[in-house]
Amino acid sequence: MPTATASSTIVSGADYIESLRGRGLEVYFLGERVSEPVDHPVIRPSIHAVARTYDLALEHPDLATAWSSLSNRRVNRFLHVTESVDDVVGQNRMQRRLGQLTGTCFQRCVGMDAINSLYSTTFEIAGPYHERFKQFLVKMQEANYVIGGAMTDPKGDRGKAPADQADPDLFVRVVERRSDGVVIRGAKMHQTGCLNSHWILVMPTMRMRPADKDYAIVGAIPVDHPGLTFVYGRQSCDTRALEGVEIDLGNARFSGQEAMILIDDVFIPDELIFMNGETDFAAMLVERFTSYHRRSYVCKTGLGDVLIGAASLAADYNGAAAASHIKDKLVEMAHLNETIYGAGIAASHESHKTAAGNYQPDDLLANVCKHNVTRFPYEIARIAQDIAGGLVATMPSQKDFENETVGPRLKKYLQGRAGVPVEARMRILRLIENMTLGRNAVGYLTESMHGAGSPQAQRIQIQRQMNIEEKRQLAKSLAGITEP
Ligand code: SF4
Ligand code: FE
Repeated sequence: MPTATASSTIVSGADYIESLRGRGLEVYFLGERVSEPVDHPVIRPSIHAVARTYDLALEHPDLATAWSSLSNRRVNRFLHVTESVDDVVGQNRMQRRLGQLTGTCFQRCVGMDAINSLYSTTFEIAGPYHERFKQFLVKMQEANYVIGGAMTDPKGDRGKAPADQADPDLFVRVVERRSDGVVIRGAKMHQTGCLNSHWILVMPTMRMRPADKDYAIVGAIPVDHPGLTFVYGRQSCDTRALEGVEIDLGNARFSGQEAMILIDDVFIPDELIFMNGETDFAAMLVERFTSYHRRSYVCKTGLGDVLIGAASLAADYNGAAAASHIKDKLVEMAHLNETIYGAGIAASHESHKTAAGNYQPDDLLANVCKHNVTRFPYEIARIAQDIAGGLVATMPSQKDFENETVGPRLKKYLQGRAGVPVEARMRILRLIENMTLGRNAVGYLTESMHGAGSPQAQRIQIQRQMNIEEKRQLAKSLAGITEP
């Protein structure tokens, strides 16, 4: 079990993969216990995506590490508490690059956004939490661990608050208070990268009333705690990874990961508790977290770069690259993609300093960024499928191409522009399928819709901050209206 004391530092992606081995996690997939997630063909590509964050830090320390005055050393940017506007902007630049390199969700931003929002919130709650949290963070930075942020509860009846649910466990809650800590129970949904993490930070998912005191709990739990069970989420086309083929996977190396975490009476000692009953601060934490996380979704522009490249290649392999409508569609895709990035990076550039001293992105622009993400990847994916042609969804399998009877005939009839190998055409169409219909459509599309809050959550924040009264005054002034 990882402890709060680091024994050795994880440096490379290979070190990271080894650090996940032999933890005895209770993981279920397709109704069966997974003996070693690291070696499971469906799970392994999600581990590779996180491993890439470590290797990027070695290849490009300026992009993926930062100097931390908290622990007086360079730390992985995913574990860094922002100390300047540039630090917040640097997160977005790193996220776009990792999206380009993996074509999927690399899972580590949830922890980054959780530590930054908790850093400022624990400071404002006062009491012992902020000092405890800093000590915890220094240990995470020294070991270079992956932290998963666990926020989303099952929520049961959406019309009822946590304490009013028929089953009180539908939001994570304290079920027992001891002299040296608390015992919690509940579940967390759609937890990105949770079994690829070393620690998870459990946090409340929404505003709390005084009656919800037992639900206002924040604490750190090692992922290999025996009270945790993980049920792996199915992804479209996931079992292709069990077929012994590579081309049909589209992106064989990388995938995202979401799982449900069942929390069965887990004890959290005092030193790992960072909020305990302060219901007034639950909304502050959620809003600060979502503000970071909604502009973190510029990650999807890295995936957009991959998809635009794939669409361009598909047209080229078909011999259609010179068609004016193809060029125009590629411009449309780029325009949508850069519109997402523009809002996200602007939110980071407009960061302000919190009372605790770290930097928090502009909330209105962060919400605009994420709201664009709930729409534009779908349009980019639509255009990619348009350019790719119907073969993206009807192409025979790799095994058919390898079959000695039909394979040669498939290669004869599925050739495109002269000089382009049929296999290159297959591979690029499978990549487009992967990102728009297959495993990585979970990350590129549905996660874009619901991750960090569904579209309506952003509209509520935009409405709160659009300052309609100021806009009315501007209009009145120019129109020459003077009465109140
Ligand atoms: Fe990071 Fe994007 Fe994945 Fe969220 S969806 S963890 S922001 S890569
Ligand atoms: Fe997410």
